[in-house]
Amino acid sequence: AKQSGRNQFMFFTKSLQEHAAELMETEQHLRNALELNQLSLHFQPLVRSRTGRVTGFEALLRWHHPTLGNIPPDKFIPVAEESGLIGPIGEWVLDTALMNAKSWHNQGQKLYISVNLSRRQLDLGMNEKRLGALLSKHQFDPSYLVLEITESLLLDNSDTTIIRLESIKNLGVHLAIDDFGTGYSSLSYLKRFPIDSLKIDKEFVRDLTSDSDDVELVTAIIAMARSLKLRLIAEGVETEEQRRILLRLGCEFLQGYYFAKPMPGHEVQNWLINYEP
Ligand code: C2E
Ligand code: CA
Ligand code: CA
Ligand code: CA
Repeated sequence: AKQSGRNQFMFFTKSLQEHAAELMETEQHLRNALELNQLSLHFQPLVRSRTGRVTGFEALLRWHHPTLGNIPPDKFIPVAEESGLIGPIGEWVLDTALMNAKSWHNQGQKLYISVNLSRRQLDLGMNEKRLGALLSKHQFDPSYLVLEITESLLLDNSDTTIIRLESIKNLGVHLAIDDFGTGYSSLSYLKRFPIDSLKIDKEFVRDLTSDSDDVELVTAIIAMARSLKLRLIAEGVETEEQRRILLRLGCEFLQGYYFAKPMPGHEVQNWLINYEP
């Protein structure tokens, strides 16, 4: 056992080194990704659970590198955050998402656009002034923009964070808590932050049909959201059965492969035309 323990340790240190080298390589490539037009946005619909009608789309970042291929966001967003590249990249995401959503509005489709905002972006200067400038640039109605922030941001219960979020919210945009249920937020955090909605993490949706614990957990989250007057969205809905359960439990909005996978911006109009709720 001792022997294998040491081998494991050696394996571990080596993979750590490899990991560090890989991170540096990713960062090097990511530095040029914006200028080389390797980044794009995909859009995934959010629907009303009762009617199936589309209420909006979430913008999801994609990175296609000519030799490395498609690099998943779970791999490069952390690198972007660590290196500070999330500053310019996040600004590009907002700009591009608003441009796309504005074109839907111009075509008579008043749809929401949800954009992921990482904690680091607040530190790197994304504030009400910068966001306000982007909204004006696109003449975009702020009440159709939803910023999704992860639950970990709530852990920073500091007044500065709350004030920053409040002044952003004062522009008239909505704030949603992403990946809800995976962190440690409590009711008191939720009360202190100026939040409009919660997104139940797909981890809880996945086992809804097989795990009664998860049904109870989601039931509790829904009850809590109701009492706090928060809108509730479930992500990762892949099956009809999951949809039925979430509808029965009273979750108002749904998102997932069952309705559509994230799609490039130029496919959105066509998808909307052919979509039958
Ligand atoms: P997220 O915000 O929780 O986004 C939901 C993820 O679930 C997306 O993964 C989406 O493609 C995936 N998904 C949607 N429906 C289903 C489903 O039915 N089943 C399953 N298994 N997955 C589904 P994606 O696009 O790979 O993004 C991963 C994460 O990267 C996002 O998680 C978000 O945290 C981050 N991310 C993506 N784009 C941005 C961005 O522009 N800015 C920031 N800061 N983070 C981003
Ligand atoms: Ca999200
Ligand atoms: Ca999630
Ligand atoms: Ca369980």
